[in-house]
Amino acid sequence: MKHSSYRWVVGAIVGVVVALTATPRAEAGVYVVRGVELQLPDGWGQRVKGPVTLLAPTKHKGRAIEVISLATMPTATPEALKTLLGSAKLEITGAKEITREGTKLVAASGKVVTPKGEVAVDILALPVKDKAVLLLSFVGADQDPLIKKANIDIMLSARIPGPRMTTMYAAPTKAGLVGPPPAVVERISKLVTKLDGMLRMPRPLPVKFEQCGMINAFYKPAAHTITMCHELYDDFIVLFTGAGFERTKAEKMAEGAFMFTFFHEFGHALVGELELPITGRGEDAADEIATLVLAQSPTVGHAAALSGAAWFEISSKKAGRQNVFWDTHSFDAQRLVTVLCLLYGADKAKYTPLMKSQKIPDSRLAKCSRDYPLRVKAWKGMMEPYKRRVK
Ligand SMILES: [Zn+2]
Repeated sequence: MKHSSYRWVVGAIVGVVVALTATPRAEAGVYVVRGVELQLPDGWGQRVKGPVTLLAPTKHKGRAIEVISLATMPTATPEALKTLLGSAKLEITGAKEITREGTKLVAASGKVVTPKGEVAVDILALPVKDKAVLLLSFVGADQDPLIKKANIDIMLSARIPGPRMTTMYAAPTKAGLVGPPPAVVERISKLVTKLDGMLRMPRPLPVKFEQCGMINAFYKPAAHTITMCHELYDDFIVLFTGAGFERTKAEKMAEGAFMFTFFHEFGHALVGELELPITGRGEDAADEIATLVLAQSPTVGHAAALSGAAWFEISSKKAGRQNVFWDTHSFDAQRLVTVLCLLYGADKAKYTPLMKSQKIPDSRLAKCSRDYPLRVKAWKGMMEPYKRRVK
């Protein structure tokens, strides 16, 4: 492709930022544009013109991003980029190579001075397969700095598409430690793949099944990992067999409680990775999102949430169990009711007998019903910008 193909691009900058009013308005979310994943705000439209896709808010003028297919990665110098874009008006003040998640990118910035005013330009080029894609952000210099920041955020969100959440399994080495059977790991791994297809994490988030030396599961914010300890699964088997369930039933419940725990840790990871504005206690939020996700699946999901609830119920009744008032978690009996209340909110008829058997008063049940759609709405709203949208 000759460089002159892009010659019109910069020449038309000022026209471009007003040109998208007719394109359909899109929902916020993660879109793949010319092989690059971009997180676009609500109300942006797209228009394809030859090797260029124009992205801009459909209702507001003064800003746009162009996504341009290139044959190869450009050289990180102002001269090379200027030649590539073929405009005498474009002034590139800085260009450099940067590394993002192990991939070398080219970033540059500059401006275009036109009779109508000055336009700030930011450039980012990414290798896509054996070719490249260049993003060009235009913001009128008279625009609010917040608008420029919004464009930069879109540029920063650019990634090569691919899974972010993956699973890793390391067999236990300690004598007597068994951990989750392969079928359980496989079922959770499939859910991880499904979640990854629905929601784009800002960076890789491995889910590790491994021996930890303790009974636990955790999300590590600094390492960006979720760890599911083999010891926790074995402890669930002990807990449920100890509570009188026969082996096969105890294994099913251990799987469910393990799955519930995975979604609880996933909840912590959502808050940490997506920097969700959670108020209240993080542990309650994690139980809440775990149950809300599981409540979407009436068979496997509900069974897992109920196993989580059974774990809290058994733990709450354990001899010598002390409720530590300063703990970050709610008391087990409260966690039990949180889970049940959300399940009741999701399916009142199905869970009425269970709630009655737990002696939960009608006044609380009414609140469970009222609260459920509000909880769903709150989480859905927070996730919207990170949803992978099919092009
Ligand atoms: Zn937690």
